[in-house]
Amino acid sequence: MLRTTASADVGVLIAGAGPTGLTLACELAVRGVRFRLVDRSAAFFGGSRADGIQPRTLEVFAGLGVLDRILAAGDFGIEMRAYRGGEVVWTGRMSEPTEPAPSVPYPNPWFVPQFRTEEILRERLAELGGRVEQPTGLSDFGQDAEGVTATLSTGETVRARYLVGADGGPSTVRRRLGIDFPGETDESTTMLFADARVDGIGRDHGRIWPGEDRPVSIVPLAGTDLFVVAARPPVHDEPIREYLQRQITTASGRADIVLREITWHTTWRSNTRLATRFRDGRVLLAGDAAHVHPPTGGQGMNTGIQDGHNLGWKLAAALTGAAPVVLDSYEPERMSTARTALDISTALLRKHQRGDDDAHVRGPEVHGLALNYRGGPLSRDERAAPGSLQAGDRAPDAPVSTAAGRVIRLFDLSQGPHWTLLSFGAAAECPVDPAVHTYRVAEAAGERTLVDHDGHLRAAYDVPDGSLVLIRPDGYLGLITGSAQGVTDYWADLHGTAEPPLLRSSPQAVR
Ligand SMILES: Cc1cc2nc3c(=O)[nH]c(=O)nc-3n(C[C@H](O)[C@H](O)[C@H](O)COP(=O)(O)OP(=O)(O)OC[C@H]3O[C@@H](n4cnc5c(N)ncnc54)[C@H](O)[C@@H]3O)c2cc1C
Repeated sequence: MLRTTASADVGVLIAGAGPTGLTLACELAVRGVRFRLVDRSAAFFGGSRADGIQPRTLEVFAGLGVLDRILAAGDFGIEMRAYRGGEVVWTGRMSEPTEPAPSVPYPNPWFVPQFRTEEILRERLAELGGRVEQPTGLSDFGQDAEGVTATLSTGETVRARYLVGADGGPSTVRRRLGIDFPGETDESTTMLFADARVDGIGRDHGRIWPGEDRPVSIVPLAGTDLFVVAARPPVHDEPIREYLQRQITTASGRADIVLREITWHTTWRSNTRLATRFRDGRVLLAGDAAHVHPPTGGQGMNTGIQDGHNLGWKLAAALTGAAPVVLDSYEPERMSTARTALDISTALLRKHQRGDDDAHVRGPEVHGLALNYRGGPLSRDERAAPGSLQAGDRAPDAPVSTAAGRVIRLFDLSQGPHWTLLSFGAAAECPVDPAVHTYRVAEAAGERTLVDHDGHLRAAYDVPDGSLVLIRPDGYLGLITGSAQGVTDYWADLHGTAEPPLLRSSPQAVR
């Protein structure tokens, strides 16, 4: 029998515990927001699906405290060899490894099966005191001026200040809101992906053979004893293992490659869509619920994780009385980056469809490091002539040393739920909220300074002495100004009052 109860208020109800919902939940948990995370599936997702984690997502994971686990669970990506019969006709990688730079600590994509990434995020969420409730689907909801009343599949009624639909492409939340999801589904562009145990081949490289009308590939799945097998989907209903075995044997000409077991499979259809709105009042959409991508270029999960990262601090701010502009910025910021990511993945899909020689090659455009919020509602650049780095851009990393001579990274200081104010050279001290960590950037050691010995910080930030640079909690530049008043005004605009509980803060102590 269904239980019907009206539960206590929560700040945020999240429907869907895929990578997007889990990231958002971790961001809320870090900030002490009361939330619930429900998923209608009875079991956790068990497939490889999105196995490419982009450099910008690695930075987000570093901030969430899961980077070491992600790195331990995967690899840099394996060499691919194309065969014709037994002969190797092409060898290559999706991208060549790049050395870390002072401003970019993780320059290369990292390959981890999606089920493992989700497992790591769930572990982190548990450490932060959260959990996924399942099987618990969001069945229906309505909203009023103060909040959202949602009905769950358990019969429970939940009252929340905000609801986030992170419930994937078929999103109940998006449909219930009647938000259009325009784009195209191309039924002629399909592919069967299967995670499988395969005997008879080594794990030192991935293999591609020309198939009947599409290639057949077998690629070791990072951090597991599995391989990802991809081929044209069967035309008729037949057992997948037998079908794929036949495809492999025919394409490779080898009877010794044996498909022993399939642990997960999906038939992917080219589906490219972007919701016309990401928000309706107190209800927001994130991840695949708001945008679905072709898998080319590995943008889908990465964009969803960035949605969760962008939304977490804004919902926490909205719940503690921030000005509406903070949460209002979610839709324009994330819609424009989702559109860019869709353009990237669609262009790569076209290359595959045309059979271009470089269709497998991925450049820095897929890394997510250049995506920015320039011109967005929270980006304010008060310089007459902006430099190469502008408000709205990703805040670059840099090695710096403390007055005590300890070498650290700017990211060690800026990652976390707080804002960070960098005061370059002789910039005026300015009054800011204690939630802002302030550091003075100088060339010589002094009390409470970050010493920029090699000039990496100044090179990356490209601002003159006297500049004040405010970094948002999600690692983007909110404000670049030359005046303390500029910081006060910006802060007041975001926090709803010209006289917030300000303290005259001195720069953060760094040891
Ligand atoms: C073959 C393939 C390869 C891919 N490769 C990549 C890649 O390399 N890189 C990349 O970035 N992306 C890739 N993607 C895309 C990626 O898998 C998705 O973008 C990603 O899973 C989206 O995450 P999400 O959390 O938004 O949604 P989902 O992962 O779809 O999760 C949604 C969750 O919501 C739950 N749910 C649904 N309805 C309800 C409801 N009413 N109430 C409660 N819960 C509900 C579901 O059970 C599910 O757990 C690939 C996709 C495919 C198919």
